[in-house]
Amino acid sequence: MHELDTPTFRLAVAQFDQAAEAMDLDPNLRERLKLPQRSLVVSIPVRMDDGRVEVFTGYRVQHDSSRGPSKGGIRYHPDVNLGEVAALAMWMTWKCALADLPYGGAKGGVAVAPKRLSRGELQRLTRRYAAEILPLIGPEKDVPAPDVGTDAQVMAWIMDTYSQQVGYSVPGVVTGKPLSIGGSLGREEATGRGVVYVTLEALKYLNLDIRNTTVAIQGFGNVGSHTARIMHECGARVVAVSDVAGGIYHPKGLDIPALLTRYKDSGKSLSATKLGETLSNDELLQLDCTVLVPAALSEQITERNAGRLRCRILAEGANGPTTLEADRIVEDKGIFVIPDILANSGGVIVSYFEWVQDAQRFFWKATDIQDRLRDLMTSAFQRTLQFATTKHASMRMASLMSGIDKVAQAHLDRGLYP
Ligand code: GLU
Repeated sequence: MHELDTPTFRLAVAQFDQAAEAMDLDPNLRERLKLPQRSLVVSIPVRMDDGRVEVFTGYRVQHDSSRGPSKGGIRYHPDVNLGEVAALAMWMTWKCALADLPYGGAKGGVAVAPKRLSRGELQRLTRRYAAEILPLIGPEKDVPAPDVGTDAQVMAWIMDTYSQQVGYSVPGVVTGKPLSIGGSLGREEATGRGVVYVTLEALKYLNLDIRNTTVAIQGFGNVGSHTARIMHECGARVVAVSDVAGGIYHPKGLDIPALLTRYKDSGKSLSATKLGETLSNDELLQLDCTVLVPAALSEQITERNAGRLRCRILAEGANGPTTLEADRIVEDKGIFVIPDILANSGGVIVSYFEWVQDAQRFFWKATDIQDRLRDLMTSAFQRTLQFATTKHASMRMASLMSGIDKVAQAHLDRGLYP
């Protein structure tokens, strides 16, 4: 399938191949799990505010549904393509299995720069995209959620479009919704909170104290900003953060509460907050710090810059931030990696809580969400660490092998249809 052949898809498949080889995975399953179960490409005509019709391309890929409905976010970004969406869908399959959620993996996306659209254009694009992928989604089939470039409002429009089509309200068709229509407390911050929970476990394992911990974060969107806030609340010193335009640095630790308000007020410019000296994204990745959190896009840590990393822990908030070549370099340097499918699984874990609450029509307290999230993430971390230690595998390979093994077992138990 040459349409899939993009750098991000090649990375996901290369990781899978490496894990499959190490675990001696059944060759029949290996062929099947390399490819998505279903891929849908849609054209999305949108009436723009000036009267023109612009046509966007959208995708929904379901990688695997052997363990339950497929689950995964929707990305709005100009570089979205079928290969990237398929790679992200595959990572969702392993992520859900690793966290023991009864889900398969999926992902969606539209090649669009959402910030260039008016609110009306964004709503029309979202509703038409939802209508085009409607046959594939549903609370028992495939459940979208936010990802890069989408948020609770976009989920509300998808939920409404779906509900209008079927004729009644279906909150469980998406997660990451506003609270008013069946969203969950703690969902927005969940990925960041999860990054912090597993980092606390890694610090404990390495005998490091959170109060002497410095943190650098690449990306200041949903994941990066909540990670910064919660790290700060836990007593770590967040010394640098960045967004697409570059970052800011303060060796004594940034004033994160002030940064969060000033960032909003300044029209989302980090340097305009004047809370630190400016630095580039590349400089941020090479900072001397305890914890480096890539929380932006994929393939940021490559063979070009991996040798210059100076962190003790690499906590991957983003999906696929480290290439395979970089993985080897990072491992040789003795950096402790908390791989993406483990580190950023807090988002889909609280999505699962939201879906369960919607199904039960019974909603939990914020403390219940936090306690259960911490519980699931801590045990996934400990299981992965134990697996890595006993099998002499890297944390990346341990997490992939555990996830793949559960999916393989589901396939073997169900058998091949027909
Ligand atoms: N987009 C998030 C991820 O990459 C969350 C997915 C979800 O909640 O379904 O894990």
